[in-house]
Amino acid sequence: MDDLLRATRKKVRRPRSARQQAWANSAEFAAFGRAGGEQGRRIQAAGPVCGAKRRSDGLPCQATPMPGRTRCRSHGGCVPRGDSWHRVQAASSVAKTDRKMRDLERRRKKREARLAAMDPDQRERFLRRSRAMRPGTVVERAQRRHDRAAREAFARLGAERQPVSPELAALDSRIAELEAQIAASKQRTT
Ligand SMILES: [Zn+2]
Repeated sequence: MDDLLRATRKKVRRPRSARQQAWANSAEFAAFGRAGGEQGRRIQAAGPVCGAKRRSDGLPCQATPMPGRTRCRSHGGCVPRGDSWHRVQAASSVAKTDRKMRDLERRRKKREARLAAMDPDQRERFLRRSRAMRPGTVVERAQRRHDRAAREAFARLGAERQPVSPELAALDSRIAELEAQIAASKQRTT
């Protein structure tokens, strides 16, 4: 019963006093808000902007980058660099870390559901990218990048190799024929 009451009850706010209401309606208060907005826009216009491609229209993002970074918080500005790249970091408090772990678990489940819904081609591309984005130290990642490039170059070389010429193929089949004849004659003589 208590639960039901709690669910249906609206959060009641203490009404504003006449003085508070007058302040909220005053021109001075509105001017504060406008000045804050203008200052924010000035800072943003003067400073560096995030150059990541926006998904909505493909243009640069233009948001303010995270301090010391070149990307905003939505475009990787919060992703740790160097040896911590894409490694889960502990948050500033236990509660925040717990919430982060719960979020990660939820994201993992979502990812699995997404993977299950993909067709094989899509899944292959997705997993290929995931493999390429594995976390690790700077050195490990550089090594993997190098290995990957070498493997791809090798595969390209294999694909480009010229097919066997028809003359060579004819000779090969002739050789096989003759060898078979030799084997057959040997069998007759023994
Ligand atoms: Zn951005």
